[in-house]
Amino acid sequence: MMNGKYHIQTYGCQMNVHESEKIAGILQARGFCSCDNVEDADIIVLNTCCVRETAETKVYGHLGRIKSQKKRGAILIVGGCMTQQAGAAERLAKRCPFVDIIVGTFNQSQIGEYIDLFLHTGKRVVDVWESEKDMSLSENTAAARTSGVNAWVNIMYGCNNFCTYCIVPYVRGRERCRPIDDILSDIDALLKSGYKQITLLGQNVNSYKYGDKTFTDLLKMAETDVKYRLKFMTSHPKDVSPTLAELFATSKVLSKSLHLPVQAGSNRILQAMNRHYTREQYLDKIATFREFVPDLGLSSDVMVGFPTETEEDFLQTLDLVEKVGYNNLFMFIYSRRSGTPADKMPQLDYKTKQQRIDRLIKRQFEISKRIASNAVGKTVEILVSEKKGDRCFGKAQNDAAVAFDSKTAQIGDFVNVKITSAKNANLTGDIII
Ligand code: SAM
Ligand code: SF4
Repeated sequence: MMNGKYHIQTYGCQMNVHESEKIAGILQARGFCSCDNVEDADIIVLNTCCVRETAETKVYGHLGRIKSQKKRGAILIVGGCMTQQAGAAERLAKRCPFVDIIVGTFNQSQIGEYIDLFLHTGKRVVDVWESEKDMSLSENTAAARTSGVNAWVNIMYGCNNFCTYCIVPYVRGRERCRPIDDILSDIDALLKSGYKQITLLGQNVNSYKYGDKTFTDLLKMAETDVKYRLKFMTSHPKDVSPTLAELFATSKVLSKSLHLPVQAGSNRILQAMNRHYTREQYLDKIATFREFVPDLGLSSDVMVGFPTETEEDFLQTLDLVEKVGYNNLFMFIYSRRSGTPADKMPQLDYKTKQQRIDRLIKRQFEISKRIASNAVGKTVEILVSEKKGDRCFGKAQNDAAVAFDSKTAQIGDFVNVKITSAKNANLTGDIII
């Protein structure tokens, strides 16, 4: 089995994408190599998500399809947020007896040992820790990074906010911040090995605290003379400060884009969600950021159909989305999550939720188109992340995706591109030499 192949299927957020890189690191350290096709893999890992019901349905659907891989002796492993929910590992073990190893979020670092145990005994391993034994466990093996010019760096784990709809604090535990020196030395090493963009990860990066050091201290300390882009996610509107807005204007490395999830535009719903800000406070913060950085790219997460949401509440969301004018918006239908307070609130019917998401998507499509067309004629700096023949793809400082042709530009280069056309939200341009 050593020198065999592995295939990892990842569901959910960037946090999971990076965790899959860590799992890949563990497997590679044991001599396994990656393969694209599940049919070729000796080890198949599903790194799951449970933020919305659809994510869980997908996992079960996928498990049904890959069940047959057992016949040729592949080892099936399921880990991630879904298995960490109360009683979920037992349910999965019963429903899918063909799964060999089940782990939770706190013990994914043990996957190598579990594989050894399984190979040795032939007995299935179901082990889900209730909490993290040692935060450094998940940083012990070098991640096998797959995200091109970008490298993810965890600065913290868990969440203390308990938004009433959200399962994350239950499956990821309370907030734990990594030592600032460890983060800075990771950044330093990644830049030395050629990465051109670092994205700091946490559920609420603005509440990062280590000793007397805050998130904005960390951002300042990550400034170097090396040319690179520094990004972060996710920010919570209640914790973003004017200091951060100011830093955007002065920093040499911070990318001029901010993901600031608003979730809803109605104060009544924001309160029921336990978000700790009003629409007025949110809009004020956006105005402050725009004062410091007029060309800041803004994105957000918005949910429709939260329990008790009325047509009036929803119109407030549409109005806020219009007022802000997001470059990009991630839109979700509220999904009931067992064990969260919102699950016990009066629910909306499916049709109303579906109609509202359709209206929101339509409205945002028009906004994105308008913003994209405003970019025509401007010159922007692009970090090239992909190249097919002479066609290059990359992102501008404000996170807009841009395509252009160049024989000479290479992946990892920073180049200036003049935007010549916008089709819907897709920008194309000419490289300026
Ligand atoms: N920590 C981040 C924050 O506070 O914005 C986001 C974490 S969550 C994994 C990503 C997004 O999923 C949230 O911003 C929210 O819009 C959405 N989400 C979370 N729980 C949800 C639920 N029960 N139903 C639908 N969407 C949900
Ligand atoms: Fe979930 Fe809220 Fe924490 Fe984000 S801040 S992970 S939405 S509980």
